[in-house]
Amino acid sequence: MAINCQKGPSPMAIKEIIMEDCLFCKIIKGEIPSSKVYEDDEILAFKDIAPAAPVHILVIPKKHIKSLVELEKEDEALIGKIYTVINKIAKEQGVSESGYRVIVNCGKDAGQEVMHLHFHLLAGTQFGEKIV
Ligand code: AMP
Ligand code: ZN
Repeated sequence: MAINCQKGPSPMAIKEIIMEDCLFCKIIKGEIPSSKVYEDDEILAFKDIAPAAPVHILVIPKKHIKSLVELEKEDEALIGKIYTVINKIAKEQGVSESGYRVIVNCGKDAGQEVMHLHFHLLAGTQFGEKIV
């Protein structure tokens, strides 16, 4: 009887394949153009291609994190930094006083389409009915 000793790809190899195929990882690498508004060694922010408000910016970690579900203990400082960056961008966009909304869609029921953690910064209009 033949025994199949072939192992599948390692978890690291699978993650690399996913990253190669990830839209936002391609934006980070500059393989897909974006309208950048902020960048440092850990975080990138760029204008959403289909804005849902006059100001609609996506703030993302450069590290490929699939969604909030995938967050690890070591990511806590990074997430804190993302909120500081959101605050800074809101000031630069002139919406700190008027107000803004930050949305993170996580998973299927929330309608997450791009599986690379991202924070929507929305502003520049009076938003309609609130969910919460
Ligand atoms: P979500 O539904 O929370 O996963 O949000 C994904 C967001 O990515 C949507 O608001 C899209 O309009 C936006 N998006 C998709 N492709 C691009 C792109 N190439 N550049 C900028 N934003 C994009
Ligand atoms: Zn990615």
